[in-house]
Amino acid sequence: MNNLDTIQENLQDAAYAITDNFCYGCYKVVDGDHCPTCGSDDFMRHLSGVGVEYGTEWVIDHIIETKLEAIDGEELFEELLDECYPEITVGCCTFSPSQVMKELDPVCFRIGTQENLDSLAEDGQLYEHNGDYYTLTDIEEMIDGIEEETDF
Ligand SMILES: [Zn+2]
Repeated sequence: MNNLDTIQENLQDAAYAITDNFCYGCYKVVDGDHCPTCGSDDFMRHLSGVGVEYGTEWVIDHIIETKLEAIDGEELFEELLDECYPEITVGCCTFSPSQVMKELDPVCFRIGTQENLDSLAEDGQLYEHNGDYYTLTDIEEMIDGIEEETDF
């Protein structure tokens, strides 16, 4: 099992841990594996103060959006360019490589920003969720935090 599957599984576990079973038929939160009133085990997830829906996707969206800050891809790419290439001096002016690319070829800069994010995600350093990127460290810390709060 690779890292990505583990994270997805852990997010899923966290989503279950912070929500309650909710029986739609009886329209109430339920303890245990079956609804004591109607016997159903086809539960929705109930997240206090947020809502009730089937599935865990929306819970995971909520956790990530409220607890984590997405990576600023442009800033990351600027840092990379400025580390990899020397400053450019013309007469009395000095420009950083990121500044030069951003000003002269914004399309190239935008493509580079995206490619950099994609390759970091492929390397397993970043985690992509709904088009935003998060560091694996942040994700793992967040999951650990939820694990401690709810001991799942
Ligand atoms: Zn029920």
